Amino acid sequence: MSNKINRRSFLKLFGAGTLTAGTAAVVGCKNNDNTTKARQEPPVGKMTYRLNHNTGDKVSILGYGMMRLPTKGQTLGGRQVGDEEVDQDMVNKQVDYALAHGVNYFDTSPVYTQGMSEHHTGIALHRHPRKSYYIATKMSNMHSYTRQDSIDMFNHSLKELQTDYIDYYLLHSIGGSNDEYPDAIDLFNARFIKNGILDFILQKKKEGKIRNLGFSYHGDVKVFDHALQMMDQGKVHWDFVQIELNYLDWHWANEINDRNTDAEYLYEELRKRNIPAVIMEPLLGGRLADMPIKLVNQLKQREPERSVASWAFRYAATRPNVLVLLSGMTYMEHLKDNLLSLCPLKPLTAKEMTFLEEDIAKQIVGYKTIPCNDCKYCMPCPYGVDIPGVFVHYNKCLNESNVPQTTQDPEYAKARRAFLVGYDRSVPKLRQADHCIGCGTCVPMCPQKIQIPDELHNIADYVEELKQDLL
Ligand code: SF4
Ligand code: SF4
Repeated sequence: MSNKINRRSFLKLFGAGTLTAGTAAVVGCKNNDNTTKARQEPPVGKMTYRLNHNTGDKVSILGYGMMRLPTKGQTLGGRQVGDEEVDQDMVNKQVDYALAHGVNYFDTSPVYTQGMSEHHTGIALHRHPRKSYYIATKMSNMHSYTRQDSIDMFNHSLKELQTDYIDYYLLHSIGGSNDEYPDAIDLFNARFIKNGILDFILQKKKEGKIRNLGFSYHGDVKVFDHALQMMDQGKVHWDFVQIELNYLDWHWANEINDRNTDAEYLYEELRKRNIPAVIMEPLLGGRLADMPIKLVNQLKQREPERSVASWAFRYAATRPNVLVLLSGMTYMEHLKDNLLSLCPLKPLTAKEMTFLEEDIAKQIVGYKTIPCNDCKYCMPCPYGVDIPGVFVHYNKCLNESNVPQTTQDPEYAKARRAFLVGYDRSVPKLRQADHCIGCGTCVPMCPQKIQIPDELHNIADYVEELKQDLL
């Protein structure tokens, strides 16, 4: 949704979604994918592996994203609330299960899980032989670019991960800009070039402390192009690059958000340079798992036994230049379902790929959901708003036709109740959209460039009108 949209336009935008499927949940918003697969046990010894031609690493096609670790708190509407202390026993259990089922790539960062991901990942992995897994972590110097702070960050990663080398090291999230550096190239130079940190990292690679060097990209495509040109000019060798790729972003990324670049371009630029692609957001923050019922039915019709998410995983994994797909698996059920999708990979046919890219993706775009992928980079909000929680709830309700446009809608009462009851269940009252004061702190943090306060204010206004039956 565009910036500063008024309420009338806002309502118009979700009209299309409102008129579809009449099978919405009566209370709350539930997952449309009623798969039985998640209850099955994934097979052992069936993982698909890809070869990294730089080092000969045999990497599991499914990589464990350690961004959102399980905590000791309660869950509310499928989201964790309350005690945010990481549940180390559960992390250990899930890491053990993943390794036993062939997952050998673990992706973390100094900034994930409020800065605690490397610590907990290190504890879990250190209980296993070092050669049985690959660690990916990042130079996440987004907030301080001084040479010393960046070097400290690298050394801290080694310490927390209880290792003396990193298998896959990334310049984290190149392509962004901020108030100090509105031009994304200037910020890239400040973070990695002017402070000599890229030289430091290259030295660490020579010393064997880093085995593969790459970057992850979000934002301004000119920085992506610039980084590849550096390789073309022989200044650096990228052993891998991490990009967002899924069937919605393949052709429609720019349509959803004119600041995003289609995954087809990013992938092809890597492929022609023979740079393996590490894929983030194969499910687009869950949006390709939790889809409108109408679309779920179209996928189920083709393969009733497969989960909706498995289509998105197989779509990304079918591309031959893909080394590994990352998935943030907070709960054991996520891990099991993803293993079922990829143990082994059953590649999609060319016809199925086109069906997803063209037919399904086009329909999803028509739903006008907020392009939030639940990455939580915008968190914490100093005023306590659960930004992704609000957007995830809104998108789910939109997908399920529970965002009534007027009191005249035949399903108005049912949809109104589903939206409001589900909202209170998913997001505690004190963390809802009406608590946003519009300070703007979150806006530069969002890689999807969502105008967060505008969207929250629109949702808060909508909720108020829904409560008062004023639509
Ligand atoms: S703009 Fe709103 S949501 Fe964003 S940080 Fe400020 S109060 Fe929180
Ligand atoms: S609003 Fe943006 S930063 Fe926040 S969770 Fe969504 S995509 Fe991530």
